[in-house]
Amino acid sequence: MEEACGVFGIYAPGVEVASLVFDGIFALQHRGQESAGIAVSDNVSITVVKDLGLVTRVFDKNTLQSLSGCIGLGHVRYSTAGKKDWMSAQPAYRSAGEVGFALGHNGNLTNVEELASLANMLPGVFTSDSDIVAELISQRINFLQSQQVPDTKDSFESNDTTCVPEENDKNNLLLAALFDILPRTQGAFSFGLIDANQLIAIRDPNGFRPLCLGKLPSGNNSPTSYAIASESPALDIVGADFIREIQPGEVLVIDEAGLRSYFPFPKEQIKPSLCLFEFVYFARPDAVLCGSEVHATRLRMGMHLAMQAPADADLVIGVPDSGVPAAEGFAMQSGIPYGQGLVKNRYIGRTFITPNQKARTDAVRRKLNPLKENVKGKRLVVVDDSIVRGTTIRQIVSILRDVGATEVHLRVSSPPFKWPCFYGIDTPSREELLAAKYTEEEMMDILDVDSISYLSLESLFAAVNVGRNGFCDACLTGNYPTKIPVTL
Ligand code: 5GP
Ligand code: SF4
Ligand code: MG
Repeated sequence: MEEACGVFGIYAPGVEVASLVFDGIFALQHRGQESAGIAVSDNVSITVVKDLGLVTRVFDKNTLQSLSGCIGLGHVRYSTAGKKDWMSAQPAYRSAGEVGFALGHNGNLTNVEELASLANMLPGVFTSDSDIVAELISQRINFLQSQQVPDTKDSFESNDTTCVPEENDKNNLLLAALFDILPRTQGAFSFGLIDANQLIAIRDPNGFRPLCLGKLPSGNNSPTSYAIASESPALDIVGADFIREIQPGEVLVIDEAGLRSYFPFPKEQIKPSLCLFEFVYFARPDAVLCGSEVHATRLRMGMHLAMQAPADADLVIGVPDSGVPAAEGFAMQSGIPYGQGLVKNRYIGRTFITPNQKARTDAVRRKLNPLKENVKGKRLVVVDDSIVRGTTIRQIVSILRDVGATEVHLRVSSPPFKWPCFYGIDTPSREELLAAKYTEEEMMDILDVDSISYLSLESLFAAVNVGRNGFCDACLTGNYPTKIPVTL
């Protein structure tokens, strides 16, 4: 049920937003290819369309036209084996009496059992962690509505008395329910929510997954319009200007009265831990994270790698797409020419997602084909962003050797991936993680390479260039910033 996804939301009075939401989630397609969905509110009710498959498969002109309204929420979902059914596609929708709302989630909750029992949901009844949260919110809204005069005071004050609702939010049932539920949810969550009249953006107290806020240009008399997105390129594409990142632990309400920001989590829970792999692999190269364009960060990773682990070689190649910027950086720093060694079929999604080993191996072959003349007779530096199971790189080395590469020096632009992630990246168990099982010597043998080097954690932080604090590096160090659901 683990998932790492993309979320996009928009609040734009007077504008039909469905096609903008489409553009937003299309820009986030790399974060999830399993299902896509859009919910739109016309200030009265919410309509949701979602299905399995890519954004362009789920939506066409007609479906978008059927989604009328000026508040929208979109989602793309990524998961591995397990539930890939329609039911777990998002946004999740609930109607709780007077209040209908839709929720989109990027991340993974670590106390699912506890939350499910809190919601009185039997094992197997819920389809995903996100679905449980939607259910809890809906139950809380129902409870509030069951009171003669809904008393939101308890909800607002349940955890942090400094979090007093502003006048506009005294009767905001969705927000009151969130204040009650959120402090009980553990793990990684960047949420987008809409109801008939508002857009809400939430980042967990660790801020594991990114989420940013943008503003759309508006005419003199029209109200200000805002958008939220997992990554900044989705804002660029709809013409929104990046304003800022949502803060870890922040709940941001956007409605006709403007923006209001709350911090309903206990202060001691706030511990910024942005996923380092957003920089290494996940985010688009044109995304801006912590003030840096990710592409530049990846170039620096390659440069540090070249300083740290030089190689005697004729050509530097990158494993498309995510290994390419680091390969360029390696070439720049080392003076060894950069070239292409592999051509990628652009119409194939990320191979990591394919469920079994045989299918994953075939997928790599189908996806990458060598440039024989470039590779033949050369001593190569091959740069990839990460090794997880080793499937990708093992195939690639064999492809390159088949067409006459004389030496292969593998350089990885992140430290060894040794620990599973519980925060929204579906990683295999420790037994399947190559670097957890084998020494570098053994890996040279398994992968059939002449040398292997990883970027050190120090150098990775140096490349990211915003200090050492505020990041999660658990899959590299085993230092989990929160309680995890299993003992390793
Ligand atoms: P492997 O083939 O070693 O199991 O996976 C590593 C490759 O998959 C790399 O080329 C990396 O770009 C890609 N990849 C796809 N999804 C993920 C992910 O969730 N985490 C990491 N670290 N790499 C991934
Ligand atoms: Fe990211 Fe690794 Fe932390 Fe997971 S464990 S959130 S992949 S840094
Ligand atoms: Mg890759």
